[in-house]
Amino acid sequence: MLKAAHLIKLGWSYKFLGTARLSYPPYQYTIEPTNKCNLRCDFCPQSDPDHQSVRPIGKLSRENLELFLKRIEDVKPANRNLNFTLDGEPFINKEFVSFIRLALERGYFPVFASNGTYINTAAADRLVSIGGFRASIDFASDKEIFERIRGRSGNYDIVLRNLRYLIEKSKSRSNIYIDVHDITPFCNVDPDRSLKKMRSLFPPELPRRIRFDTRQFHNFCGHLKSELGSDDYRLCPYPWTQMAVTWNGDCVPCCRDTCARSVLGNVFEDSIMNIWNGEAYIEFRQNLINRHPEKNPACRDCDLPYSGKEKRWKPLYILRSLLGR
Ligand code: SF4
Repeated sequence: MLKAAHLIKLGWSYKFLGTARLSYPPYQYTIEPTNKCNLRCDFCPQSDPDHQSVRPIGKLSRENLELFLKRIEDVKPANRNLNFTLDGEPFINKEFVSFIRLALERGYFPVFASNGTYINTAAADRLVSIGGFRASIDFASDKEIFERIRGRSGNYDIVLRNLRYLIEKSKSRSNIYIDVHDITPFCNVDPDRSLKKMRSLFPPELPRRIRFDTRQFHNFCGHLKSELGSDDYRLCPYPWTQMAVTWNGDCVPCCRDTCARSVLGNVFEDSIMNIWNGEAYIEFRQNLINRHPEKNPACRDCDLPYSGKEKRWKPLYILRSLLGR
């Protein structure tokens, strides 16, 4: 299927028909290299002392990644971006760089988020040498805040050094994209001033593929304090768009369900379309169509359906986001 045709079918089913059974496969795929993390950030469910026991801790194997890619090929994907993101720090899986290579060899464009602590010079050299990717890395303008809310002393200097090296190596590579997000505003500092300060830590002249912005924080597992409104409900697009898969193959409705509260099938045991249009997925979508996100364990505490004032609901933002993933 062509990318444009896929997006039209998606938009039509989601926006106009509001149907729970879909005539097209997922547009985006994300798979988790591991759910283990070396940090315990205040804004992440990993900081919950019980988080390590909500589901088994483990790592994706190469065999299972191959199986997943085969399942995707079976539905002839229109979008060739492949996300390696869910819970955990991907570089903890020692095979992660080889996963990126495998994705590239199969014609995918890898996208991942990392905390940057393990992207040392050796890892950066390997990554840059194998081809294109998009990396999303959280950083900060303030060392004290960074180390306080990420929970590890000494990490600021490590990530700064790693980022500077990765950016230097990547700046002449037209197929490498790096997004650096400023997390400092989590502590109520002025976002614009902080972003400017963080930007000044890197060379002034950089290609537009290397971007700096302010991190948006989301309450997806009830781990942040936020008021859920009820009068401005929006239908969440993820179950019409994305299939997110944990390291052991469980399909969850979106990359926010890092606790795997709603498991809708297992992609190592079943085909993508069987899961995507299976009973569990259909009931999950129907609950959202009926304005009952609280009936879905994953959505119970999620702020997304009630975030109608945020820029993420603007059509141009959605289109850009879909094309970039
Ligand atoms: S409402 Fe939140 S948890 Fe539920 S599918 Fe959407 S983004 Fe995921």
